[in-house]
Amino acid sequence: MHDVWVQDDFPLTLRHVMERMRGMYGDAEVVTQREDGRTRISGADLGARIDRLAGALRTLGVQPGDRVATFAFNTQEHLELYHAVPCSGAVLHMVNIRLFDEDLEYIFGHAEDRVLFVDAILADRIAPLMDRLPTLRSVVVIGGDAAGTGIPGAIGYEELLAAHEPRFAYPDLDDRSAAGLCYTSGTTGRPKGVVYTHRSQTLHALAACAADTLGVSSRDRILPLVPMFHANAWGLPYAAAMTGAELVLPGPHTQPAALAAMLEEERVTIAAGVPTVWMDLLRHLDAHGGDLSRLRTMLCGGAAVPLALMQAFQERHGVRVFQSWGMTETGPLASVARPPRDDSEWSYRDTAGRVAPLVEVRVVADDGAVLPHDGEATGEVQIRGPWIAAGYYRDPAPGSFDGGWLRTGDIAAVDPRGYVRISDRAKDVIKSGGEWISSVALENELVAHPDVVEAAVIAKPDERWTERPLACVVLAPGSTCTADDLQAHLAGRVAKWWLPDEVAFIDAVPKTGTGKYDKKVLRARLADGSLGRRVTVGPA
Ligand code: ADP
Repeated sequence: MHDVWVQDDFPLTLRHVMERMRGMYGDAEVVTQREDGRTRISGADLGARIDRLAGALRTLGVQPGDRVATFAFNTQEHLELYHAVPCSGAVLHMVNIRLFDEDLEYIFGHAEDRVLFVDAILADRIAPLMDRLPTLRSVVVIGGDAAGTGIPGAIGYEELLAAHEPRFAYPDLDDRSAAGLCYTSGTTGRPKGVVYTHRSQTLHALAACAADTLGVSSRDRILPLVPMFHANAWGLPYAAAMTGAELVLPGPHTQPAALAAMLEEERVTIAAGVPTVWMDLLRHLDAHGGDLSRLRTMLCGGAAVPLALMQAFQERHGVRVFQSWGMTETGPLASVARPPRDDSEWSYRDTAGRVAPLVEVRVVADDGAVLPHDGEATGEVQIRGPWIAAGYYRDPAPGSFDGGWLRTGDIAAVDPRGYVRISDRAKDVIKSGGEWISSVALENELVAHPDVVEAAVIAKPDERWTERPLACVVLAPGSTCTADDLQAHLAGRVAKWWLPDEVAFIDAVPKTGTGKYDKKVLRARLADGSLGRRVTVGPA
């Protein structure tokens, strides 16, 4: 037995995070964009509503450990659930509103959710499914007429809160107990449940505040465009609560014009989203202008971020875009690409960055050998740390872990300074003549062409080389750019043997439920012959 030197048992729970928000930062505001304007609430008033909601959960029969599902946009009410559900001992199950009915039915059934909170404007997705969701005891409708939704017995959110007291006796919780549950979007096979604990979320929030990650502080106003229905909106709601940063929540109003207005008028300092939404915003700003001088960090991740996008924002609008990397299983924050002190602006910015404090990565070859961090040796990235998944919810998924490390399925090299450079997802890799071609690198170069709006590169089966890259390209309206023009643009920027032999001109790149390029759909279209207008290119 040794003496106790430090209060190592101090519980790292979300209750601590919530108390900071409503107490010392009780004057910080949360703004929500509504159909007819913006509403504002202080942290202190939010706290009182969270207490009412916690009381309501108890009345609805929610027991510690029960799953409470949300099916909602980024709003004040969703934020109230983010705090009330875990702090009262239950598990917040955020459900991705973009999933197909079949996946929704599977996820609700697998999680055995007891109560569902749904935005009124999304109730028509749920109403037809109700008799296939037998575990649900109650449905609460946010922001609209519950009776009009057609969901039997639906309760109105505001009526529910009004019927409860603005005080609640929160239980003492084990910080290793479950706080959140989020399913992967199932790009391969069935969606898998990832559990977040109080401890993992609290440490994750703290890491998000580190200056070389997101650097969240009480002087920030954060607009999470990343949905609260997937991967905790990158942990921003809890990081904001912990530090007293203010939140600007867009609701369903994420179109470029509405977004530009929110960023400017609300003096947002940090915004976060996937590359496609920032590409749309860039086009809007280029056409209509806008003053984003307050925005000091535009965080971009969830998919590879083209260097051309970052440069365009910085050079044309003075906004610095930083790339981050992560996945549902990693909390999701794993790394952020802040340049090192002695670097010129760009050479590290198109990497996935250095991993956050307390997180470690290693690169593993096909044969299991652990590769050196020399910037060259390429293999699968494996990751470990106090907020990285150690298993899936009620799903053994034996191939996903390797002796305490999570297998990410991302292919990368790590340099001696710890910068991770991702070249592909394992399932998107193009193997030509025994060598890898990075679809990510090709896509980045293609979108650097002024006429290219979107580009996704997939593998095309090839008798001689096994696979060759095929570029699926969306051109700007009215563009006359040809496949040969694109080939000429790529020549000199990538190795000669990487040049795609074929270009498919398509109307839009299909997207997954989280807004990422869905290459599975492109590959299926290639196989069934429905992949746009295909043009074979001559040698460059
Ligand atoms: P899914 O797309 O399967 O739902 P996630 O939303 O958790 O899962 O996405 C995680 C994956 O997204 C990562 O494994 C990686 O392939 C990709 N990703 C995320 N950020 C980046 C990045 N900055 N660069 C390249 N790929 C990224």
